[in-house]
Amino acid sequence: KVTVMLLDARFSPTTTTSIHLRKQIKEPLGLEGKVALITGGASGIGECTAKLFAEHGAKIIIADIQDQLGQAVCEAIGSSDSIYAHCDVTKEEDVINAIDIAVATYGKLDIMLNNAGIMDAYKARVIDNEKTDFERVLSVNITGAFLGMKHAARVMVPARGGSIISMASIASNIGGMATHAYTCAKHAMVGLTKNLAVELGQFGIRVNCLSPYAVATPLATSYLGLDEETLEKKMHSIGNLKGVMLKTDDVAKAALFLASDEAKYISGHNLFIDGGISIVNPSFSMFQYPDNL
Ligand code: NAD
Repeated sequence: KVTVMLLDARFSPTTTTSIHLRKQIKEPLGLEGKVALITGGASGIGECTAKLFAEHGAKIIIADIQDQLGQAVCEAIGSSDSIYAHCDVTKEEDVINAIDIAVATYGKLDIMLNNAGIMDAYKARVIDNEKTDFERVLSVNITGAFLGMKHAARVMVPARGGSIISMASIASNIGGMATHAYTCAKHAMVGLTKNLAVELGQFGIRVNCLSPYAVATPLATSYLGLDEETLEKKMHSIGNLKGVMLKTDDVAKAALFLASDEAKYISGHNLFIDGGISIVNPSFSMFQYPDNL
């Protein structure tokens, strides 16, 4: 039961109305009847999102290269609601196959989450960066997303609808927070998202990306060489928003929103899940409170 204060000239300022929300509003973010393919769904953010989408009624296709982990996620979701497809996103035939499995199994594809990603080892100086590492990161993080978008469009355009979401990062906006290759790939994700949103708008297909701050997943812990707890504490201490920790679940909920019909008019957007850190320039910050406040 929620009490709502009505701020309207027709009512006195003290007028209140009680609404039994559960009875009056159906599940707002339901994905009932929708089919979602999640690349990189065997671990971290992708795994969490797959489980959340399934809880909200979607049929799930996990597309990953970690077969055992991916199959375990499907077992956790339930075999009637999910299926695993081995898919290296850098290989077009694998991406075609995963999307064809989605359509053959569940009849359509409503949601494509291009989430698979890797990070190369940090090297302070550009002259120490290897071309092969740079190309490998771009191949998975951006070419992989391009292939996911391309083949999602192949089945979504005839259906005249769908939601394509890709995992960018705060490195899509800020320099110096990740390697050159990773930052480059995540900036490119924003451009690709915008271009595709323009192309596919005429078919009722929405295209967006998500930009999370650091989250404790295997990608982040191995890149930073920290255990989960230390990573979270460190990121909290340098983060903008205090008193809360970013979790995979928070990213999954943002993906759920963009996937759902609640976001029906949102396209071409890069949604930051970063507690505001990407708009902070500490050199100009004038909001310093005394410690004893
Ligand atoms: P993760 O390592 O837990 O998950 C990444 C998944 O991608 C793994 O299951 C892995 O097997 C899969 N993958 C890797 N290469 C692949 C390939 N060639 N084909 C198919 N699957 C492949 O990491 P995560 O943190 O959950 O990363 C998910 C996404 O979120 C990535 O795109 C990452 O860049 C992005 N991201 C992560 C963070 C963070 O701090 N963890 C922050 C911002 C953005």
